[in-house]
Amino acid sequence: MAFTQFNLDSRLVRAIEHMGFEKPTDIQHQAIPAAMTGQDVIASSKTGSGKTLAFLLPAMQRLIKNRALSKKDPRVLILTPTRELAKQVLAHLKAISAGTQFKCTLILGGENFNDQVKALDKNPEFIVATPGRLADHLSKGLFYLNGLELLILDEADRMLDLGFAPQLKQINEAADHRKRQTLMFSATLDHGQVEEFAKDLLKKPKRIAIGSITSEHVDIKQRFVLCDHLDHKQQLLEHFLQTETIQQIIIFTATRADTERLASELSAKGITSVALSGELKQSERNRIMESFAKGQQKILVTTDLASRGLDLINVSHVINFDLPKHAEEYIHRIGRTGRAGTKGDAISFIGPKDWASYLNIKALLQQEIEFSQVDGMVAKFSGVKPKKAAKANVADNKTKQVQKKKKPAAVKTKKKIIFSDINTGDMPVMRKKPVKVIDESDFKEQD
Ligand code: AMP
Repeated sequence: MAFTQFNLDSRLVRAIEHMGFEKPTDIQHQAIPAAMTGQDVIASSKTGSGKTLAFLLPAMQRLIKNRALSKKDPRVLILTPTRELAKQVLAHLKAISAGTQFKCTLILGGENFNDQVKALDKNPEFIVATPGRLADHLSKGLFYLNGLELLILDEADRMLDLGFAPQLKQINEAADHRKRQTLMFSATLDHGQVEEFAKDLLKKPKRIAIGSITSEHVDIKQRFVLCDHLDHKQQLLEHFLQTETIQQIIIFTATRADTERLASELSAKGITSVALSGELKQSERNRIMESFAKGQQKILVTTDLASRGLDLINVSHVINFDLPKHAEEYIHRIGRTGRAGTKGDAISFIGPKDWASYLNIKALLQQEIEFSQVDGMVAKFSGVKPKKAAKANVADNKTKQVQKKKKPAAVKTKKKIIFSDINTGDMPVMRKKPVKVIDESDFKEQD
């Protein structure tokens, strides 16, 4: 099947040709025609599968073919969990909207509020946003969503995991009219809150499930290496950095402190790397990501902050210096390599502290795992015996219970409440219920 069979506007077909894509990916093949009928869609698709164009192409087509419901309000709103992902969506949007007059703007947490107000005043047809900041503008009555034609939720599961449910509800209610179409994308549909939200937001949606996030990434060679301790991990890391043919590499650590420590250890050995952590200012994070995306840096050390969405085509390797706590995060991390048909390598270090995470990952992958060994660096550690692990758990639970008893009564803190004045066009200004405004930057990185 070719893109021409979708009956897309010729400008869109030309833009796709210009991007060098010959045929639609599986998710595009299924989601584009479904969304073009105007019906709601809920889709799961693994990371790097081409889902961005799967929602952007039908959105552009709808805008080109249909008259706007409102001259002022945005016509398409795309929500993403992170600023980095939003920027990537905008880059794709700019590429496919090149032959049109549509304006698009980014509304992200951590960036200048007044600049965003000015951008909203220009009545862009497209908004790509993170939910916290967008809800903030909405609460202040700085723009309206009464004329919204298409609401798109990218990585809905992650937005919900990050605690954006109240903002998503607020946005949904602000754009609640029968002509609105909603497209919801999620790494997994097997997520209680996603299902619950889908019921609220979508009308008789078409369900599309492409593979599952647990299905093996065929283009990614996964290796697991046992390690004894931190120094051993360090030695193995240096070994792989010297012996593998690396274009670009992302090294994931457990915490921000580990990220910084590892980057300075590497630097002490004369190995240049950049460290990305949530503690940095947004401008600093942008600068680091841009230099890495442009290939100016070869090694990026980071926490799970960079595990999702980012489309970095030259990443040949991912190393899990520490395994992630949640097994699904492993799938997202390794998905940073092997993008769009390229080959990738994922190497994971498993020390005693990583063992519980390793067992969860193994269960999620549902496959036998053979450990890789490096000559002269074979670990003495061969896994935690189940009995010992169970004992450790019991002991751990006991300690937790003791700690629980000792916990002092929680101190109630005052929550910041902002009142939203919603002006509904001809109607007088109405004072609505208080809405708690949470900015995306309020959310701390989970490490
Ligand atoms: P996404 O899942 O949207 O992040 O896309 C992953 C990568 O696949 C991006 O680099 C896209 O530009 C690329 N891509 C999207 N659609 C296609 C296609 N039809 N053929 C080849 N690559 C594509």
